[in-house]
Amino acid sequence: MAWPPLREELRGIAPYGAPQLDVPVQLNVNENPYGPSEECAADIARAVAEAATTLNRYPDREFTALRTALAAYLSRDTPHGVGPEQVWAANGSNEVMLQLLQAFGGPGRVALSFAPTYSMYPEYARDTVTEWVVGHRESDFALDLDHARRLVEERRPSVVLLPSPNNPTGTALPPEAVGILCRAAGDGLVVVDEAYGEFRRAGVPSALELLPAYRNLVVTRTMSKAFALAGARLGYLAAAPEVCDAIRVVRLPYHLSAVTQATALAALRHAPELLGRVDDLRAERDRTVAWLRQTGLTVADSDANFALFGTFADRHAVWQGLLDRGVLIRETGPDGWLRVSIGTAAEMQAFQEALTQVMDRQTEDGQ
Ligand code: PMP
Repeated sequence: MAWPPLREELRGIAPYGAPQLDVPVQLNVNENPYGPSEECAADIARAVAEAATTLNRYPDREFTALRTALAAYLSRDTPHGVGPEQVWAANGSNEVMLQLLQAFGGPGRVALSFAPTYSMYPEYARDTVTEWVVGHRESDFALDLDHARRLVEERRPSVVLLPSPNNPTGTALPPEAVGILCRAAGDGLVVVDEAYGEFRRAGVPSALELLPAYRNLVVTRTMSKAFALAGARLGYLAAAPEVCDAIRVVRLPYHLSAVTQATALAALRHAPELLGRVDDLRAERDRTVAWLRQTGLTVADSDANFALFGTFADRHAVWQGLLDRGVLIRETGPDGWLRVSIGTAAEMQAFQEALTQVMDRQTEDGQ
């Protein structure tokens, strides 16, 4: 056996991760450019200091206070409300998703999504020895519903993964599409990944509204984006209580530290302030999309805090040209496209100036 005795299918695979480079303008991992306010940071520090006095004890395994606060927060997005027994949380929605596949995927089972889709999903499938099946989207990145329903009926996935808004395209799913796939999936779970849900445009509903209609629907969220809390690692879901109970079987004991619980609870107390910044970012997103279109580029409609734009004959050259000018974006999505996260107005100005220079340069070079 080769050393170290890694699983055969993991040999030679590079660990996932966008480059973490120290450049002035970082627009590559869809972070919130605004840190928590001083009051919010102070409240978090107080809560953590209090938690520190009892760190000799394991944390509340059921994170009851946090589940209650998350349920109250989610209840704003659905007329039916969400109860604490419908909420589950873990260290980032990445961990939530992995737990979903640990509980509901596995050997002999299928996880399904539609490309382009979030690049971590195939890794969760691989790590849980779940077969990974991927369908396609339309050229404007909307779901091809006939194709999607047929694939669900043919492959009978135990988990369908639907990011909405989608990463990397920014495309939100209409509730009718979610309903059709929930019905097609039978007893399989349909996971609507709303990591960027708070950034959706006015009038775009959350899949949370559909929870009472479909017991196989799971809606995931994260505090990494809208709550500017990527460093704290807190993701969560809303689903039928039976789904939450099933995940308890696979979660590690005490997986959410007392420090994490205290941090998330304090941040939730500052929801109105943090979500105020979301409105600024949505406006900045719409301005960025309009500007990119004015320059003649194609931009996918975005309900998220990023925009996918293109197309470039040599996208790597554009990405590198921006990096040379101190602006880091993401080389991801279908060939020829690039993704920019929405930063502050000043950061977007820097991005626009750098991109203009890079494109002028390419025109001069006859590219
Ligand atoms: N889902 C999607 C679609 C994402 O883009 C991300 C983060 N990039 C995540 C889930 C995971 O985020 P986190 O683990 O920080 O909650």
